[in-house]
Amino acid sequence: MITASALARVTIVGAGVAGAYLGAKLSREGIDVEGIEAQDISKYHSVCAWATSVDGIRGYLRSIDMDIDGYIIREADGIYVDLGGRLYRVPTRHLATFDKPALIVDLARSFKVRYPVRVRGIPDVRSDLIVDATGVHRSVIGPAEDGADLVLPAYQLLVRYRNPPMDDFYVKPFPRYTGYLWYFPLTNGEFFVGAGDLHHGHLKQISEFLDKHPPDEVLRREGRPIRISPPGILRPLFRAAGMAVTAVGEAAGAVLPMLGEGILPSVISAEMLFERISNASEAIDLQSYAEGLTRKFSVFGAAYRFVRKKQLDECRISDISCTADALRLALFFSSRSGRRLTGLAPTLRHAYLAVRPF
Ligand SMILES: Cc1cc2nc3c(=O)[nH]c(=O)nc-3n(C[C@H](O)[C@H](O)[C@H](O)COP(=O)(O)OP(=O)(O)OC[C@H]3O[C@@H](n4cnc5c(N)ncnc54)[C@H](O)[C@@H]3O)c2cc1C
Repeated sequence: MITASALARVTIVGAGVAGAYLGAKLSREGIDVEGIEAQDISKYHSVCAWATSVDGIRGYLRSIDMDIDGYIIREADGIYVDLGGRLYRVPTRHLATFDKPALIVDLARSFKVRYPVRVRGIPDVRSDLIVDATGVHRSVIGPAEDGADLVLPAYQLLVRYRNPPMDDFYVKPFPRYTGYLWYFPLTNGEFFVGAGDLHHGHLKQISEFLDKHPPDEVLRREGRPIRISPPGILRPLFRAAGMAVTAVGEAAGAVLPMLGEGILPSVISAEMLFERISNASEAIDLQSYAEGLTRKFSVFGAAYRFVRKKQLDECRISDISCTADALRLALFFSSRSGRRLTGLAPTLRHAYLAVRPF
């Protein structure tokens, strides 16, 4: 295929879900794309609880002739949400755990990727654009300006139960939205039990859960921080001076702050960058890509402001901006687009309960 893009060669550092999806799209467009990935492909792993909205991701994968159904491990019937000791059963809409590492490896098979190569700073390559898809690391574009980055420590265990304490998805947000605990089913009695907490209480919360529900086996323990600062707050998203560099996925803040959900937002950001690259008639307009991300994920901005005020105990009913953000979030979570993004299908009442103080 002959590409119409002014960009002949693109280098993507990091072949996680964002980088691998972007690479797969660009190679189909006839753009010479090369990935550089720190992990070994034969042992590729993604520290993540592997849950996403099947409805949300399906169309993106279809655009490259892939089918999410082949990767689904366990679809939720609903999700238990533990709000300050009261358990609510919230409907879901095709929320599922899926084999995320297998999907990533399959996506990355469709273009050249150098494994295992860890990049630090701008790699020495001949390219029209370098994409930083290294997730929380931002190994190419570098740290955020003005301390505008916020990452939460997170940890999880892969456990097996002969008699699981619950046979469905379960989450327990912590007071003031400093984080939450999750229990997500996989297959063969296996579950991810994990938590992330800004105030570092996540290990204690996991221990308490496991003391109450002791598993028969612990198969794996792993952790990594997760970014919750969204595009717009997180800067820079690109560097135009010298070699053009831009960020995508979690490196660009494409993570829903209240839920830590970053898989589908990462794919959405990669699709947005793909469109910019494939339509670039002269140089790529990275400023407008960054502005597009900020607009697209503006509800993430509201979620970020809301959780930050909650965490600092500054969200009062008299605070008009915090109340407006809370209302916007309640409407978003119960809306069609919210359902598509999160895989949750709360009623307006459930959504209100999730954003009220507790
Ligand atoms: C414990 C935990 C649980 C989570 N659970 C969920 C969930 O259930 N659902 C959900 O939607 N989101 C979840 N997330 C968030 C989600 O995992 C990420 O937001 C999403 O995977 C981001 O995709 P990405 O491709 O941008 O980055 P990553 O998935 O982090 O991929 C980055 C890639 O870059 C590679 N890399 C890193 N540094 C370098 C380097 N210097 N040189 C070369 N390569 C490099 C990495 O090996 C990796 O392959 C979770 C996060 C954590 C920490």
